[in-house]
Amino acid sequence: MHVYAAPEAGARIEAMDIDAPELSGSEVLIDVTHSGVCHSDVHCREGFFDLGSAGKLPLSASGVTYPAVFGHEIVGTVAAAGPDAKVRPGDEKFIVFPWIGCGKCQACREDRENYCPQGRNLSVQLNGGYAEQVWVPDERYLIPLGDLDPAWGATLACSGVTSYSAVNKVLPRGADDTIAVIGAGGVGLMAVALLHALGHRRIAAVDVNDDNLAAARELGATVTFNSRADDPVAGLVEAAGGRLSAAIDFVNNGATASMAMRALEKGGTLVSVGLCGGEHTYPTTVLALNLISILGNFVGSLPELKALVELAKSQDLPRLPISERPMSAEAVNEALDALEQGRAKGRTVLTN
Ligand SMILES: [Zn+2]
Ligand SMILES: [Zn+2]
Repeated sequence: MHVYAAPEAGARIEAMDIDAPELSGSEVLIDVTHSGVCHSDVHCREGFFDLGSAGKLPLSASGVTYPAVFGHEIVGTVAAAGPDAKVRPGDEKFIVFPWIGCGKCQACREDRENYCPQGRNLSVQLNGGYAEQVWVPDERYLIPLGDLDPAWGATLACSGVTSYSAVNKVLPRGADDTIAVIGAGGVGLMAVALLHALGHRRIAAVDVNDDNLAAARELGATVTFNSRADDPVAGLVEAAGGRLSAAIDFVNNGATASMAMRALEKGGTLVSVGLCGGEHTYPTTVLALNLISILGNFVGSLPELKALVELAKSQDLPRLPISERPMSAEAVNEALDALEQGRAKGRTVLTN
């Protein structure tokens, strides 16, 4: 199997060949046709996640072995299937659900595999989609693409389902309740579009970039706020016409988390999504007096991805600009470099 892999922690991506697996049970081998490039792969290539004052979490602590193949926004066709699988090789395209659990624990039995403590995520513990082929442990993780554009469909597996899962943690909300989306990059803009598509109308988009805020307004944000302001909490509350009922923080560094917490109304909810590193500093007494909830969000579940794909098939969700380019080690590195340096526009999807 030809893959584009990091030979060791912190190394740049290289082309290499690895052994193709023998398929048993309901395992499938997928010919990757489209593979989206996600910002979390920047951290994966660096070899660690920033935990603020707790230091760095090396990828190896999450069970990553090298060479490591990243990439978890995968669309492809079935190349081969194990003896118990019902799918057969053919032209039909599938979105691959990458957030796979152990299959045995309570979370997995409840179809919440993204909560599994023994996760086997594609692109982390298992090889991902920067490759010509990817091994998937069960055909149940394949979702028919249907008529969706394959490059865009690929992005539903991470940026899409992450937004969808975060949005579901704050809905339903009253018509007058403001939900803030902090960070109007790719995933945040998807959340704005989903909130709008699911019928919510008071959406405040927050970013430091006015172009991103203009894009958010086009996708349904009713209020936009540039948080470079001197007093971002007061400014955000004023712009939103009152305190926030909920905030979804796609940046989630110390500054954005603090701003969001202090702008919430009594009973408000903060959903923390971004992996940018930082600390919560908030008076614990105020947390209790104000009945504040803080929820973490990591990607989404298989039922959530299926529901999102159905939503995408039933109505035209606004989509971010996507640029497609042929997959190679150089293309993977360049796409990750662009994300790392903040000069990526929309999403890059690599193709075979
Ligand atoms: Zn991702
Ligand atoms: Zn599990």
